[in-house]
Amino acid sequence: MNPNIPFRDKETALKVSQSIKKEADTHKTYKIMEVCGTHTMAIARSGLKSMLPENVELISGPGCPVCVTSQGEIDLFFELLDCGVSVASFGDLLRIPGSNGETLIDKRARGADVNVVYSPLDTLKLAEDNPDKHYTFLGIGFETTAPTIAALIMEAKEKGLKNLSVLSFCKTMPAAFDLILSDKDMYLDGFLCPGHVTAVTGVQLYEPLIKAGKAAVVAGFEPVEMLDAVYEIVKQANNKNFHIVNKYRRVVPDIGNANAREILAKVFYESDAFWRGLGELKKSGLAIRQEYIEYDALKRFDLKPKNITEIKGCKCGQVLTGKIKPQDCPLFAKRCTPEDPVGPCMVSGEGTCAAYYKFLR
Ligand code: SF4
Repeated sequence: MNPNIPFRDKETALKVSQSIKKEADTHKTYKIMEVCGTHTMAIARSGLKSMLPENVELISGPGCPVCVTSQGEIDLFFELLDCGVSVASFGDLLRIPGSNGETLIDKRARGADVNVVYSPLDTLKLAEDNPDKHYTFLGIGFETTAPTIAALIMEAKEKGLKNLSVLSFCKTMPAAFDLILSDKDMYLDGFLCPGHVTAVTGVQLYEPLIKAGKAAVVAGFEPVEMLDAVYEIVKQANNKNFHIVNKYRRVVPDIGNANAREILAKVFYESDAFWRGLGELKKSGLAIRQEYIEYDALKRFDLKPKNITEIKGCKCGQVLTGKIKPQDCPLFAKRCTPEDPVGPCMVSGEGTCAAYYKFLR
């Protein structure tokens, strides 16, 4: 695609849509998983699905960090508050119900010190300004956000702060890809790969996808960019010539960000982690290294995430693995709405259920 073409131009989008229609074999169904929650929301918002032929299907995957946070991890937010600490959190987490139906907003209304921050690093100022309180940052995120959380821990140590810790539930994508690839019931032609994660990892993250005979195309978030990526995946599927294509080079270099990876490796090591809907995945989490143990809230407060099943009736797990669409959940748009969510997929601004509720009902 010509890099000068405006990424939101309707005519260009229509042309790419026509190219997909011409390329797609009418005797075949193409299944493409978008892995990133930002893609899920951008696809829904732009009405992109209506520009695809019926036999080209986009399926949402486990790429929203709030949504993959397991129920056992969420419940630890509440246990932590019961230890009397103050927490700092991204806003989305405040509305996710714990197993007893209570949210962090409810807790705050009853006097708990729950602070919304826009960057993990904002926690430093909270801790510095209030030396008589202990602040724990609720650390969720993939390879994209984790370097900033690592930077928070490093900076806290440099400053010698003793009243700050991090609950690290950060996760990494490779094990999730492995799980999806090993699912015999899930046929996929290719993946629309997350630009944000690639900005850190580089495109080599997707080599296992190619080895498994799937297309892997990194795309931006504008309609023309996403359509162009779908076109590339359909072509690769037809030619059975699978390779990684980075169509987001205007933002994401193929090699990713070596500095960010270095910071990650300094602070974290790979650990097993519980994912909502996917269960416990080996080496899919980021735990805090021994050198920074004083900043590890799990160790400091002796907490352990339990493998707790989702709230009764919530089917986030199946939504996250592309097995069902949000409308197939009996609670969708009835008991579960963005105003009164049951599961994180309806809470998060990148959640599949929230995207379908807002744009695809
Ligand atoms: Fe869970 Fe609500 Fe989505 Fe159903 S609609 S899967 S209850 S978040």
